[in-house]
Amino acid sequence: MSWKGIVGESFTQSTFDNYCHQLKWINWRPNFITLHNTAIPSLAQRPNGFKKSHMANLEAYYRDQKGWKAGPHLFIDDLAIWVFTPLTVSGTHSPSWNKVSIGAEMLGDFETESFSSGRGLKVRKNTVAAIATLSAILGLDTSAMKLHYEDPLTDHACPGKNVRKQEVIDEVNQLIVERHAGDHDAAGLGNVLSG
Ligand SMILES: [Zn+2]
Repeated sequence: MSWKGIVGESFTQSTFDNYCHQLKWINWRPNFITLHNTAIPSLAQRPNGFKKSHMANLEAYYRDQKGWKAGPHLFIDDLAIWVFTPLTVSGTHSPSWNKVSIGAEMLGDFETESFSSGRGLKVRKNTVAAIATLSAILGLDTSAMKLHYEDPLTDHACPGKNVRKQEVIDEVNQLIVERHAGDHDAAGLGNVLSG
């Protein structure tokens, strides 16, 4: 058993995008993203989101208590995207899919907490942004995204029912289109071509 280590850094949507563009997936390459929610802690139990000390606590939990080699790749709250297990190595989060997917944990208990208003909506937007970044860089089929409870080897009701898969996929696709459209300045190009 050798622990794979953690990154333990937080990013905004835009710095996460920059960070991922610098990564090289050489030894391991995921095919899709598996979405989780933490349930405990809930959003209410973490009024200020995650802190760096929480990442250290999580590392001790997965490494020392669970005896795992890694944890999920991302912990996403309403304020930031935290990278936990390095994105370029396989993580431990969903028994059937550890070797083929990136694991993203959203802070919240979306069985009871809202995923469409307040802090839950902010978690959702950060999550959609992170998935859009990873899907674009890795060339993932966005419709291949899975929710943890779809894993036949798990009995967790994770994430809660307020997380509806197709809505998340649609929002990821929409964001990828919006970002790509931003790459093409139609007015500027028109000026160049007519000049
Ligand atoms: Zn889960």
